[in-house]
Amino acid sequence: MKEYGDFISEEDRMTIAAIRDFVKEEIVPIRQQLDEDEDRKLVHLVLDGLAEMGLHKRGLPESLGGLRTNAVSLTVGYEEVARGDCGIAMTMSVPAWVFGPAMRAHNERVVNDLCPPYCGDEFVEACQGMTEPAGGCNIESAEYRGKTIQTRARLEGSEWVINGAKQFPSGASVSDVYLITCTTDPELMEEGIALIYVPADTPGLSFSKPENKMGMRFTDVNASIYLDDVRVPMEYRASKEPMKDFQSFRNFLSWGRLSSAAFAVGAAQAALDIALEFTGQRYYDGKLVRQHGLQANMLADMIIGVESARFYYLTVASMFDNRKVYGSPYTDEQIARATGAKLYAADMAVKVCNMAMELTGSYGYMKDYNIEKYLRDCKIIQLWEGGGQLGRIDVARGHYEMMPFV
Ligand SMILES: Cc1cc2nc3c(=O)[nH]c(=O)nc-3n(C[C@H](O)[C@H](O)[C@H](O)COP(=O)(O)OP(=O)(O)OC[C@H]3O[C@@H](n4cnc5c(N)ncnc54)[C@H](O)[C@@H]3O)c2cc1C
Repeated sequence: MKEYGDFISEEDRMTIAAIRDFVKEEIVPIRQQLDEDEDRKLVHLVLDGLAEMGLHKRGLPESLGGLRTNAVSLTVGYEEVARGDCGIAMTMSVPAWVFGPAMRAHNERVVNDLCPPYCGDEFVEACQGMTEPAGGCNIESAEYRGKTIQTRARLEGSEWVINGAKQFPSGASVSDVYLITCTTDPELMEEGIALIYVPADTPGLSFSKPENKMGMRFTDVNASIYLDDVRVPMEYRASKEPMKDFQSFRNFLSWGRLSSAAFAVGAAQAALDIALEFTGQRYYDGKLVRQHGLQANMLADMIIGVESARFYYLTVASMFDNRKVYGSPYTDEQIARATGAKLYAADMAVKVCNMAMELTGSYGYMKDYNIEKYLRDCKIIQLWEGGGQLGRIDVARGHYEMMPFV
């Protein structure tokens, strides 16, 4: 646990030790089965096992039995789980992400109606739908300020009526609650952004078949969401104050990207560990592979990558935990920091997994060695939440003023 330095508390150390045991015993031995677990029975067994430790309640309302936590504790927990499987870490992180806006707005109706099952003994999936068929980046982009959101919500009496579609959200079709990013009027820009909770059994809500994808194949389910005259009580909008929904929308980006950095570091650490073990057992030219300068050089670069990405996300997480000094996570500056940590960690993880494969030769290409799974899983972290290109624009925006493009 020394790798986390002084960022973590004594309590964190105990939690990490428990997660580490669980990952070693319950996830690592079935990593490949999770990748082929089409009916998701094993996936839910693992998620329920993590729930037994209370991890699913972190960040959820204390009034319902949820657990108060901070950004450092949350993210190191994600990294630990991701060392076993980063799709599991991702799925486990979603409920806190989804209920964050209602909690920020003190929305008792949403908390009391929809959140209790998430604080129960079993893990329940949730979904945050932002991306649309016409594009993910143009919804997330600060340039467009909500103008390009096509999912419309109109108030009719005491109900929101929602029409539109979402593309790819994690947990789509398998969740109990959906938080849908809508606009009440695109001309209102950020003031028009409305985050509205939709229970899974609401008439008018339907889904495509799950996507068939490269990684996180069954640990995270992605599908299209269709909203056809979906009606929910007007209190299901996260906040009554429009700009607060906009801030929560920006919070999705900062928390999502910071968490993504931890998932990527977990995957990279796992690939590095496999490469270290393999090169510590295999010989060429009379010496262990890892004792050759060429390979030691590669391993050193991998170690430097993993450690620097870890300290990057931990530093940003500790800044999230000190709002008096660094401001709220939704500010341009904090989004830039979280995005930088995510871009750095995701690029590093893909590179480290590739290098691990080179160090293990054809063995690493085989499923039995798991490197190919970590490589497939972590590739999406580079692409989601705005990808590398919008991400870099957000980093630049947070550090100097940019001319608007639109
Ligand atoms: C496994 C998985 C999980 C996901 N989970 C979720 C989720 O939980 N919730 C959710 O809402 N979505 C989710 N997504 C969707 C994901 O976040 C988006 O796909 C991603 O943000 C990119 O959007 P896009 O695919 O529409 O690509 P586009 O936005 O069409 O981008 C295509 C290309 O153009 C570039 N580009 C486009 N616009 C800009 C811009 N303004 N500035 C710079 N570059 C730009 C992009 O970088 C990219 O290279 C998930 C996707 C996957 C595969």
